[in-house]
Amino acid sequence: MNRYGVSRPDLTQLLAGWGEPRYRADQVWEGLYGQRLPLEAITNLPKELRARLDDALPLALTEQAHQTGDAGMTSKWLWTGGDGAQVETVLMRYPDRATVCVSSQAGCAMACTFCATGQAGFERHLDVGEIVEQVVRAQWERPDQRVGNVVFMGMGEPLANEEPVFAAVERIHDDLGISARQITVSTVGVAPAMRRMASFRLPVTLAVSLHAPDDDVRSELVPLNRRYPLADVLDAARGYLAVKGRRVTFEYVMLAGVNDTTAHADALGRLLTGPAYGRPAHVNLIPYNPTAGLDASASGQHALAGFAAVLERPGVTVTIRKNRGIEIDAACGQLRARARQ
Ligand code: SAH
Repeated sequence: MNRYGVSRPDLTQLLAGWGEPRYRADQVWEGLYGQRLPLEAITNLPKELRARLDDALPLALTEQAHQTGDAGMTSKWLWTGGDGAQVETVLMRYPDRATVCVSSQAGCAMACTFCATGQAGFERHLDVGEIVEQVVRAQWERPDQRVGNVVFMGMGEPLANEEPVFAAVERIHDDLGISARQITVSTVGVAPAMRRMASFRLPVTLAVSLHAPDDDVRSELVPLNRRYPLADVLDAARGYLAVKGRRVTFEYVMLAGVNDTTAHADALGRLLTGPAYGRPAHVNLIPYNPTAGLDASASGQHALAGFAAVLERPGVTVTIRKNRGIEIDAACGQLRARARQ
C-alpha cells in the first residue's frame, strides 16, 4: 500500500497494531491532507514513527525529471511508478489560483490522432495513491500558494479507469478540501461512464472533448466516436447537466483546415443549441500543440477568433485556452512524448 492510497480505517488499524495511541491516526491524516505536509515535516509525530510510516507506506512515485517554464509559473514532473511506468503532472500557477493537471493512466488506449499520449499507446492504469500523490507533490513545490483546482487532463482517459479516479476525486475533495466544482474530469466521451458519473456523489465539473461537429470528422480524430457517436455523447452530457445542474464544458482542439472552418463553427453552434443538446453550452477552444505523429498544424489567431465569433452567434459561450508550458513540453497533449525519445 502506498502513502496516499491507504484508507483512513486501514491507517488507523496499522497504527493501533503498532501500539500507538488512538489520536495518532488523526495527526497523520491532518498532516498529510489537512496541512498537505511531507511526512518528515509532520513534526508533532515522533521521529521514529515518521521513519516507520515512511517504510510501511512509501511514496508511489519517484521523480525522474522536473522542469519549469513560463517564468516559473508552470512546472512539469515526470515520475515513475514502482514498475517504471511513466506518469506526468503539470502545475499551472496564476496570480489568483493554482491548478494541477493530473494523469489518470500511464499512456492511453484511446488513440486520438492529434494527442501525443494517444500516439504512444497504453501502459497501465494508475491507482488512487498515484493520482492523489500528484496533487500533493505539486503542492509541496509551492507551499505558499494553495492548489485549489485539479483537472484530469494529463495522460490517460479518466473514465476508462473509473474506480481509482473516483476514489481519488473523493480523497481530493473530502481530505484535501478542494471543492467539487474546482475538480474537472475531462473525457473523450465514454458515454456509459458519463452516465454513471451523473450518480456519483460529488458534482464535479465535466469536460467533454468534442473536437468536431459531425461524426465523420470526429471519428477521424477520435476513434472512440465509432463506438459512442456524437449523439450518444451529447445525450450523456445533457443528462449530467440535468442531474448535477453543472454546466458542461466542451473542449475543441483547433486543427488548421481539419475542423476549424466557418462551416465547422456554424455546424457546432447548431449542434449545441439544437435538439441534440439544446442547453447553455460552453466551448473551450484549444490551439493544437503539434505532435510528431500527426501531419497537421495549429489554427492561426484569425481562424480561432473567427470560429469563436460564429459559435457565439447562437449563444454558445467560448473561451480560447491560453497554452501554458509549451517550451517545456507540458502543454495539452504533449505529455510523455519527449521523455520517450
Ligand atoms: N482523455 C481525456 C483527457 C485528455 S487531455 C480527454 O480526452 O478529454 C485533455 C485535453 O487535451 C483533451 O481535450 C485533449 O483532446 C486535449 N489534447 C490532446 N492532445 C492535444 C494536442 N496535441 N493539442 C491540444 N490539445 C490536445
